[in-house]
Amino acid sequence: MTEAENLKEKLFRKEKTGWEGIEQGKKEEIFNYCNQYMDFLNRSKTEREIVKSAKELAEQKGFKSICEYEALKPGDKVYYNNRDKSMYLAIIGQEGIEKGMNIIGSHADSPRLDLKPNPLYEDSGFAYFKTHYYGGIKKYQWTTIPLAIHGVIVKPSGEKIEVVIGEEETDPIFTITDLLPHLATEQMERKLKEGIKGEDLNLLIGSIPYKGEKGQEAIKLNILSILNEKYGITEMDFVSSELELVPAFRARSMGLDNSMVAAYGQDDKVCVYTSLTALLNLEQPKTTAVCIISDKEEIGSMGNTGMESHVFDTFISEILNKLGINRANLLDQVFCNSKMLSADVDAAYDPIYSSVYEKNNAGFLGRGIGLNKYTGARGKSGASDANAEFVAMIRNILEKENISYEFSELGRVDIGGGGTIAYILADKGIDVIDCGVPVLSMHAPYEVTSKFDVYEAYRAYTAFWNN
Ligand code: MN
Ligand code: MN
Repeated sequence: MTEAENLKEKLFRKEKTGWEGIEQGKKEEIFNYCNQYMDFLNRSKTEREIVKSAKELAEQKGFKSICEYEALKPGDKVYYNNRDKSMYLAIIGQEGIEKGMNIIGSHADSPRLDLKPNPLYEDSGFAYFKTHYYGGIKKYQWTTIPLAIHGVIVKPSGEKIEVVIGEEETDPIFTITDLLPHLATEQMERKLKEGIKGEDLNLLIGSIPYKGEKGQEAIKLNILSILNEKYGITEMDFVSSELELVPAFRARSMGLDNSMVAAYGQDDKVCVYTSLTALLNLEQPKTTAVCIISDKEEIGSMGNTGMESHVFDTFISEILNKLGINRANLLDQVFCNSKMLSADVDAAYDPIYSSVYEKNNAGFLGRGIGLNKYTGARGKSGASDANAEFVAMIRNILEKENISYEFSELGRVDIGGGGTIAYILADKGIDVIDCGVPVLSMHAPYEVTSKFDVYEAYRAYTAFWNN
C-alpha cells in the first residue's frame, strides 16, 4: 500500500457491507437467528400478539409479573403487562439502581387498517367491513393484497373472544378491490395519495345471501349469522372490539442469496425481537436492564398503552418500592442517571429513490445497526438530539464488541422527517439515542431488512445491557 492508501485506511470512515468477507460460521449464526425472528413475526402480527409472545418467552426464562413479587433483589426478573398491549421487562442489576438503569425501548404496533365501530354493510350483492387506517400508510398499497383479520371482541359480560382469520392455509383471506386499468382513466390522473381514498378502503367479506332470504341485507344477515355461530356475537359487539387488518403474507427469506427478510410489521417488531431476545439471554447484568415494548407509537404514543402514559413510571416506582429503597425524588434521580437506546427502525437508502436521500448521511442495508443522533424535521424541529458525550459512550460500547454501525439522518434536509419515542424518555432526564435496524419500504405491507443488520442489532442491544 502507498502512504496515502495507508493514511486513508487509518483516517476515513468505513463504508462497506458487513457481508464482505464474512465467515461461513458467522453467516450460519445470522441465518439461524433470523429463522427464529421470522417464526416470531409469523406468530405475532399485532401489538396484542407481540405482548402474548413476549410474555411466553419471558416466562420460559424465569420472568414473573411484578405483582407476584413481595420483594425484589439483584438478579430478579420482572415484567409488567400493560393491558395486553404494551409491556415492560426488567432484570434487577447487581449494582444499586440509584446509579441508573440501561433501557431499550421499541414499539409493537405497526401501520394497518382497523375496523370502524360499525363496520358491516351490504352493497350490490357484497358484504363489506369499513375500515379506518392506523398510522402513516400509502393507501394504494393496501388494495389487492391478501389480508387477515386479527384482534379481540369483548362482550359486555367481559368475555373476550380472540380472532385470527386468514393465517392458516385452510382459512379464507380478505381483500380490498381496486379499479381495473381499463376504467381507471380518471383515477390514474389523481395524485398518488388520492388514488385510493380512505373511505374506499372497504374489505370484501362475503356474497352469499342468508338461506331462503331474498330481501335487502340478506348477505349482511348471512355474515352476521356466520359470526354469531362462530363467536356468539351480534352486530353491536363490534363497538367493543379491536379488529385489525394485517397482510396475510408470511415472513420470508428474500433474495437469491437469502440475505434479507421480507415481512409485514418489521417497523418495529424487528427491534422488539432483537431487544427482547437480547434481554432474555442476559446473565446477571451489573446495571438494571429494562426493556420497553410500547404501543401506539405509529399514532403519536398517546393513550394509556402509549409511551406518553405514566404507566412506565409506575412500574419503575414499584420496583423501587419492592427493593425497599424508595424515597421522595428517587424516581427522578434514577431517570436522570439512566441511559437508553430508542430502538426503532431507520429509513434505509433506496437507490431507486435516491433523490430523497443525502448519500453521506443515509443508512444503508447491510452495514449494521443504524443510529440517529437526532430525528425531527425542518431544522431538527421536534428532535431529541443525543448529547455528543452520550454518543461517544455508545460508540465505545459498539467498537469494543466490533459491532458494525452507521449514523444517518432521515432523508435530505427539508424533505421529510419523523420521530420516535426517544423524546418522551429524554423528557424524564434519561440520555437517549435512536438506534435500530434500517428498513426498505417502511410502512408498506411488506418491509425489507438485511439479516446482517438484524443480527447486529441483537449484538448491539446485548452489548449495551452488558456494559
Ligand atoms: Mn417505528
Ligand atoms: Mn413507523
